[in-house]
Amino acid sequence: MHELSMAASIVEAVTESVAAYPGARVRQVRLRVGVLSAVVEDSLRFCWEIVTEGSALAGSELVVTVLPVVVHCASCNALSEVEYFGGLRCPRCGEPAGDVRQGRELEIESIEIEEAGEMEDAVASQTHRAGSRFPGGIEERV
Ligand SMILES: [Zn+2]
Repeated sequence: MHELSMAASIVEAVTESVAAYPGARVRQVRLRVGVLSAVVEDSLRFCWEIVTEGSALAGSELVVTVLPVVVHCASCNALSEVEYFGGLRCPRCGEPAGDVRQGRELEIESIEIEEAGEMEDAVASQTHRAGSRFPGGIEERV
């Protein structure tokens, strides 16, 4: 259920962001998720489909970048990626390092949208190109 409420809040945030583009459809949403946010990617994708159904985000692709935990060590001042989250220790000097600098993120990195007018524009420019390829009104016979 963690992922369901998470998906719902992401969808809410994305919907707010694209409100400036009426009729736009969301193609892709990129997320940066820290290991410590305990998101199960498969589960999040499953919930994504449910939550986006019938919205401007329906059928959009969810791209998740998982960020490893990075701790700062007060003893040796090192910033290190930590693989094991049993006890957070500085891998450089072995001292306990509770200063987590990365790994708790849950942020929207980017949103790719398709604006409502985009399809019509594409058709219009194609028509224009076709017309200029056949000078002299040949396109009228097509
Ligand atoms: Zn250290």
